[in-house]
Amino acid sequence: MRLFFVLLPGLLLAQADVILTGGTVVDGTGAPARRADIAIKGDRIVRIGDLSREKAGRVLDAKGLVIAPGFIDPHTHALEDLLDDARKANLNFLMQGVTTVITGNDGGGPVNTGEILSKWEQGIGTNAALLAGHASIRREVLAMSDAVPTAEQLDRMKGLLGRSLEAGAIGFSTGLFYAPGSFATTEEVIELAKVAAAAGRYYDSHVRDESSYTIGFLGSVKETLRIAREAKIPVHFAHIKCLGTDVWGQSKEAIALIREARAQGMKITADQYPYTASGTGLSSALVPRWVMAGGKMRERLSDPSLRGKIVAEMTENMRRRGGAASLLITGLRGSGPKDRALIGKNLEEIAKMKGKPPVEAAIEIMLAAGDAGVASFNMNEDDIAAFMKEDWVMTGSDGSDGHPRKYGTYPRKLRVYVYEKKRIPLEFAIRSMTSLPAQTFGIRDRGVLKEGALADVVAFDPATIRDEASYTEPQKLASGMRYVLVNGKIAVEGGKPAPVLAGRPVRPGR
Ligand SMILES: [Zn+2]
Repeated sequence: MRLFFVLLPGLLLAQADVILTGGTVVDGTGAPARRADIAIKGDRIVRIGDLSREKAGRVLDAKGLVIAPGFIDPHTHALEDLLDDARKANLNFLMQGVTTVITGNDGGGPVNTGEILSKWEQGIGTNAALLAGHASIRREVLAMSDAVPTAEQLDRMKGLLGRSLEAGAIGFSTGLFYAPGSFATTEEVIELAKVAAAAGRYYDSHVRDESSYTIGFLGSVKETLRIAREAKIPVHFAHIKCLGTDVWGQSKEAIALIREARAQGMKITADQYPYTASGTGLSSALVPRWVMAGGKMRERLSDPSLRGKIVAEMTENMRRRGGAASLLITGLRGSGPKDRALIGKNLEEIAKMKGKPPVEAAIEIMLAAGDAGVASFNMNEDDIAAFMKEDWVMTGSDGSDGHPRKYGTYPRKLRVYVYEKKRIPLEFAIRSMTSLPAQTFGIRDRGVLKEGALADVVAFDPATIRDEASYTEPQKLASGMRYVLVNGKIAVEGGKPAPVLAGRPVRPGR
């Protein structure tokens, strides 16, 4: 039978389910683009080449389109969406060409990994992998305490992490900038990272300080490299950036430190989104972490005896991030009453409306609503471009509600940085979205277009690919992505989503 197919590949092809014809193939490895057709049978790519005379169940015209592997997003906040029947199609990602998301980042991955992975078996729009989260594990044992765990508590944390990894978590994430992750010492993280290292997984971190809050951006790069060295684990920097004017330009030193570690054989990578604003919570951006300790932020914010100290520190944090005008309110979180008039305004405008200083206005919002989402304009294009050009920096959306990156990261990077500014070649950009994350995180059979690989395939129009989402309209689906196939099923056709849930949970090494 095998001999028969070798001798008559045309016959095998006659059985292909889908052929994409006439496109330019960028295979994900970084190799130069070339003219080729792609045949898919079941969930696999069965042939790449000149298939112009072949027949298939469906022939998709890809003339003028770029055909690439489906994009793999190493940093998302898609967990809630994927567990919600109305949103689990993950359309904001599919329409960008993202066919696999990793979630549970920033320390947020839940402790019931196995349960979630089996829920995803019932149908999701993209493939998805889950990280075990340090903050969730720590909260389970220490609540919001800023204490150093006792030996017994640390053992319990290791046990929870071990169970998550066994249940299929792809790696271990921390968010050392956020409470309660910020309460962990480097040693605590190293001890936990050793558990992940023993399981053959990687460490993913939103580092302690991307700015000048505590140990500084470069201090954080060094801390992360120390964790890599002492726990002997591959480490991945989440959304690498120089946050705020105090640290602008430090991309140069950070890149030098990481290159040096890589030259020593360490496995160090990073991801990045192509926007000058980050997205976070108003409290995380401005409120000192000691105010959050023990989960007592509300009490401390309303305590008159602490007010002066808190306002002074918040004023400094606001300066770091670029001042009141650089903080745009994108949504109100928490359980309090929501004043919708605030959304879409920056803190300077809100302060004027309220007739009080910006920090007082911020405190008022947090006490009333609980918290707010902000787009925080704090990066410069030179640092962004410097990181983007490194061959260990992949694309990642950090997609969260209220920020256009959730809907636009991948098309935006292609449109702005490949086609308009020409900062990086197309093949290099596609590699940063496909084979680089697949290889780094051990995601098998995805990330490269080759015969035998799983058929996650995208075809986009280079002339029209674009992010439609903006800071004022962050939820507009991207355009220009003509076809997206997930595990061989057509999930986007003619630029429109198809009603399929073809995604699968992705477990380590699979
Ligand atoms: Zn983060």
